[in-house]
Amino acid sequence: MIVKTLIDKLERNQTLAPEEFKQLLENQSPELFEYLFARAREVQGANYGNDVYIRGLIEFTNYCKNDCHYCGIRNSNRNARRYRLDKEQILECCQAGYELGFRTFVLQGGEDPFYTDETMVAIVKAIREGFPDCAITLSLGERSRASYQALFDAGANRYLLRHESANANHYAMLHPEAMTLATRKQCLYDLKDIGYQVGCGFMVGSPNQTIENLVEDLIFIKELGPHMVGIGPFIPHHDTPFASQAPGTLEQTLFLLGIIRLMLPEVLLPATTALGTISPKGRELGILAGANVVMPNLSPGSVRKDYMLYDNKICTGDEAAECRSCMEMRLRKIGYQVAVARGDHKSINDKPTEGEE
Ligand code: SAH
Repeated sequence: MIVKTLIDKLERNQTLAPEEFKQLLENQSPELFEYLFARAREVQGANYGNDVYIRGLIEFTNYCKNDCHYCGIRNSNRNARRYRLDKEQILECCQAGYELGFRTFVLQGGEDPFYTDETMVAIVKAIREGFPDCAITLSLGERSRASYQALFDAGANRYLLRHESANANHYAMLHPEAMTLATRKQCLYDLKDIGYQVGCGFMVGSPNQTIENLVEDLIFIKELGPHMVGIGPFIPHHDTPFASQAPGTLEQTLFLLGIIRLMLPEVLLPATTALGTISPKGRELGILAGANVVMPNLSPGSVRKDYMLYDNKICTGDEAAECRSCMEMRLRKIGYQVAVARGDHKSINDKPTEGEE
């Protein structure tokens, strides 16, 4: 089968020509899936063994000045009940997470101007001081280069900012006019230049996404060379303009995870909550397709239901401890284990990091 040879070629060269990516994406079949996933697992195992890294996700604000058409916490959703966590509450989440074995904290939120550079720097510094052996990942959307620099200097190590779509027209269909792909890309290049481990990514099956768009996403990912890639299926939220759009599929998401593992053998690749939301075994299947990170929720139980980016999001009722042991059990069943480690990208693992002796 010709497409199988494309998978071999992808593994060998870690990239393909655009028309080859297109051919691969247009010829998905169960047989091809098995072949791709087996190769992806092999590459994942060679780099990270059977370890899966856990990241404690702290969703610290759902206020947002943006109005992304897909997102449940968009500014114009008047039905969202808004909340903010202060520094003390965030530190409590970290403490609970630390005791459960988390060594990376991901602070994610809407683009909330309440968290000025000064406020955010104070939060990052407090986490850095309190948890010197942990990595701090930020996911706060678009900020100025000076802001990214200040947060890096305060002790942040990683930054997640999905590019959402590498095609400017498609990007414009997903976002309000004020947001542009050019700005988003600039942010990603700034973050990388400053020295963050950077994550880009996109939603699979977002409205109006074509195969050609996905090819552009893959080419952009290769060009950026991120340390992390976050992809998950688009899932409609009932209070957004995309309420009646179809969700992305499990199969397409798994297929892309496998491809990304072969493109970037050392990449940190989460099996996302959205993947677990569209299918009960979605995250396990994601790991078996080449992913090696899971991000259980560490947000306080009282606010979890309010960080609703899409409908039916899972893990909104659990205690942090339950999420941790649930993940442990799920991974063990498929032959993987939770690693209690920062889980940095391999390229920086040998270098000393701030806060470590
Ligand atoms: N404000 C931050 C965090 C955004 S939420 C930022 O701009 O980066 C994190 C990610 O959730 C987004 O990048 C988006 O890709 C994803 N997301 C938002 N709405 C979604 C939906 N309806 N379905 C699936 N994923 C969604």
